Amino acid sequence: MARIRLESLRHSYRDHPREQEPADWALRGLDLEWADGGAFALLGPSGCGKTTLLNLISGLLRPTQGRIRFDERDVTTLEPGARNIAQVFQFPVVYDTMSVFDNLAFPLRNRGVAEAEVKARVDEIAAMLDLSAALPNRASGLTADGKQKISLGRGLVRSDVAAILFDEPLTVIDPHLKWRLRSKLKELHQRVRRTMIYVTHDQTEALTFADQVVVMFDGQVVQSGTPVELFERPAHTFVGHFIGSPGMNLLPCEIDGAGVPRFAGHAVATASTALEAARGKKLELGVRPEFVRFAPAGGAGIPVQVERASDIGRFRIVDARCGEHLITLLVAEGQPVPEGAGLLAFDAQRTRVYADGWAV
Ligand code: ATP
Repeated sequence: MARIRLESLRHSYRDHPREQEPADWALRGLDLEWADGGAFALLGPSGCGKTTLLNLISGLLRPTQGRIRFDERDVTTLEPGARNIAQVFQFPVVYDTMSVFDNLAFPLRNRGVAEAEVKARVDEIAAMLDLSAALPNRASGLTADGKQKISLGRGLVRSDVAAILFDEPLTVIDPHLKWRLRSKLKELHQRVRRTMIYVTHDQTEALTFADQVVVMFDGQVVQSGTPVELFERPAHTFVGHFIGSPGMNLLPCEIDGAGVPRFAGHAVATASTALEAARGKKLELGVRPEFVRFAPAGGAGIPVQVERASDIGRFRIVDARCGEHLITLLVAEGQPVPEGAGLLAFDAQRTRVYADGWAV
C-alpha cells in the first residue's frame, strides 16, 4: 500500500503543446495527495481527463510534466510492471478457457506465490465476492457481471499492491445488480483497507464508494473533498450542478455599494466574505434546492411566482420564477406550497457567491 502524491502533473497528447494554451492539455496541472489505504473517487464528465490521470498513475502513460510519488519513491518514469498497481478496467479481462479459481490465482502464480497461499487468498477473495461455488467452473460460462466480479477479484487478490485502480468498473453490470456490487466494493475496501481509486462519471457511484471524491472538469481538479463537503460547500459552480439532484441554483448577482450581494435587486445574506475582491468578475449566487424555503407571507424574502411542483415522494420539487430567473427548491412532505405568489428565503450559511465559477 502507498500514499500517492501528484506534483504539478500536466499531460498533453500533442507533440509540442503550448505552455499557456489550455486547449493543448488533457490535464492542466494537478497537485493532489491521497492517503495510504483510503477510498478515493475521480468523478467528472466524459473527456475531463479521468482515464488520462489513471493511466499516468498506473504507468501506461508518461506525464508531459510533473512527478508522481508512491510514498517517497518517485515512480514518474517507471514501467507499469515496476509500480505494483492493480487495475480493473471497464470491460472484464477474463481467461475464458481457465476455471474461475485459476483466473483469480493468475496474478499470484505469476509472481511465484506458494500454492498453499494462492489457495488461501483465492478462497478468501471468492468468498467476499460470492464466487466460492463457481470456483471450479469455467469462466466462459459466467454472465457479464460474473466475469466482472472475476476482474474485481483479480484486482483484489494480491496483498502487496501499492494501489488498486478501477476505471468505470460497473459499466457492463446490469442496472439492478449495480447497487449490490457498489456496496460490495465499499465493504471490500473496509475489509482490505488498500488504497483504491475509482473512476466514474456517476455521482452515486462516487459518493457511495469514496471517503474522498476528486471532482474533475476540463482537465482540472475543481474540488477534492468528502461527499458532505461537496454537497454543503461546493468550491466551484460545476460541483454545484454536477453533484446533487436537482443541482444547485445559480443566479446572477452584483455587489452593491455596501458590499452586499444583490439578486434581481434584493439583498441576499451569504456565507461569502471579502466580496470586494470579486468585483469585475462574473458573479453568481449558488444555493442548493435543499437550502431554499418559502418565507411567511408578509415578511422579508424574494418575491416569486410558483410555476410547478412535482411530487417525488418525501419531497416536492418546486420551480418558482423571479422575473426571468427560475429557482428550484425542495419542499418536504406536509409543508405548504403557495399557489401563485410566494416569498423565498435562502439559508445564508449555505448560500455562496461565486466569481468566475469559484466560491468567494
Ligand atoms: P471518458 O469518461 O470519456 O473516458 P475521461 O474523463 O476519461 O473521459 P480522457 O479519456 O482522459 O477523459 O480524455 C481527456 C482528453 O484527452 C479528451 O479531450 C480526449 O479527447 C483527449 N485524449 C484522450 N486520449 C487521447 C489520445 N490517445 N490521443 C489524443 N487525445 C486524447
